[in-house]
Amino acid sequence: YCKAIIPGLYDLVRLTFEEANARLFPQVQQLMQTDFFKYYRTKLWKNCPFWQENGLCMNRACAVEVADESDLPVEWRTESLSAIDLTPAGPLQPFKQCDFKESDYCINDQLGHSDIDTVTVDLLRNPERFTGYAGPSSGRVWKSIYEENCFNIVAKMTAGCAACNNIAGLSEDTRGQCYDAKAKITHHDREKDAGRHKLEDEFANVAAGIDDDAQDTTQHFVKAPKSSELDGVLRNLAEDEDGQDSEEETCLEKRVYYRLISGLHSSISIHICDEYFDRTKGVWYSNLDCFITRIGSHPERLQNVYFNYVVLLRAIAKVSPFLEGYRFNTGQPKVDAKVKAKVHELIDMTKQYPTTFDETRLFHGPNASRVKQEFKDHFRNVSRIMDCVGCEKCRLWGKVQTNGLAVALKILFEYETIRAAPKTLLERNEIVALFNTFNRFSESLNGIARFRDMYQQQNRNT
Ligand code: FAD
Repeated sequence: YCKAIIPGLYDLVRLTFEEANARLFPQVQQLMQTDFFKYYRTKLWKNCPFWQENGLCMNRACAVEVADESDLPVEWRTESLSAIDLTPAGPLQPFKQCDFKESDYCINDQLGHSDIDTVTVDLLRNPERFTGYAGPSSGRVWKSIYEENCFNIVAKMTAGCAACNNIAGLSEDTRGQCYDAKAKITHHDREKDAGRHKLEDEFANVAAGIDDDAQDTTQHFVKAPKSSELDGVLRNLAEDEDGQDSEEETCLEKRVYYRLISGLHSSISIHICDEYFDRTKGVWYSNLDCFITRIGSHPERLQNVYFNYVVLLRAIAKVSPFLEGYRFNTGQPKVDAKVKAKVHELIDMTKQYPTTFDETRLFHGPNASRVKQEFKDHFRNVSRIMDCVGCEKCRLWGKVQTNGLAVALKILFEYETIRAAPKTLLERNEIVALFNTFNRFSESLNGIARFRDMYQQQNRNT
């Protein structure tokens, strides 16, 4: 598609994205070390609104270390914030109460300053990594998130999810594969080609309980030279755009929704595998087998990581006029000036790279507003589902990242309509979530490259 428009551009895009992350990664990592970006405020212990969650993870690795009040910048401590509550027009309002706004793609926790349920967490002291949280509890959360992919407006897809749910006796794993297969069929829904039949066979196998994970599917990962993963994702993005026409808007939005969720799932898995804990030896290490099984042998999952990266990059570039006027305020003028300068540097870098995600192609056609509303409702539900995650640290990062992606979506799809009130566009917590989420995906891209090197090294040695 790209090639058809400007010959040569496609190769340029493919190459420069790898360079982009290599350059952006150290910058964003540095920024996340600062007070402004490392403290995230949230409600960690809300009840799961969908079911009785009994599967609490009792591992020490699951526990979140809450920041000590005395570590926070003075202006952010509870007593200062309580005082600010009384004078809402004051300049230092880093944690302004989040109201639910129509433009939001997530349910923001209502963060009361004197509310004991609301905690501030130093994200650097609570890294996203292996915690041991697994089994029916985590399986149920992922399943519910993927089920949100069933947009009512597409009756066929609803039937697809129902089909997966109604097959009795499937393990959580196999049911997950069922959703994968169904989602892929939808992707090819309108293309009555051989590919679709192949996918239907895949679905039939899953439904019959055949575990295709048992097959050796690492071939694409083994053979892939570094840039071909990007090649794949960019081609798919181009296909997404290409396939968009007046009748297909629903299908495109659903594909975007699925890719965002699947990419988030992949990125979390990459962090788990990258910092894996060997219980017998008591050591942390990069677990290549874990990566191959969960991600490396599934090209689509790998591509969806890049998809999220591209979406976040586009959102950061788009919101730059707002960020350029934003006061990064922690009450330490010199440090704050440096943070502001670094953010600008990062934004300038993001602008140097061509973006392949064009948000204006979504939400068109006669059903546009309904589809958009559904898209928002589903994403808001994903943020609610995060309260059902039975491991504190996983819940924390789940909340940060669903918030970060929701902020990106708000920027991409609502920016034009809310620009009239630019000062209220994003709260501090939303900026923190957006950049920390970008940092997660940037780390994941870095991780993929390292795992590939490890794999090739291992192959050379055997
Ligand atoms: P799961 O990762 O649970 O996946 C379930 C099924 O979904 C798979 O069998 C597969 O069919 C399908 N699937 C898997 N990946 C994808 C994908 N990328 N795209 C589409 N379909 C896919 N554990 C930790 O150790 N540390 C954490 O920080 C952590 N954070 C979590 C955050 C959230 C929000 C959730 C819900 C869970 C978290 N977990 C965490 C648990 C972790 O994600 C896994 O659930 C757990 O490790 C068990 O993995 P699994 O191999 O059984 O498959």
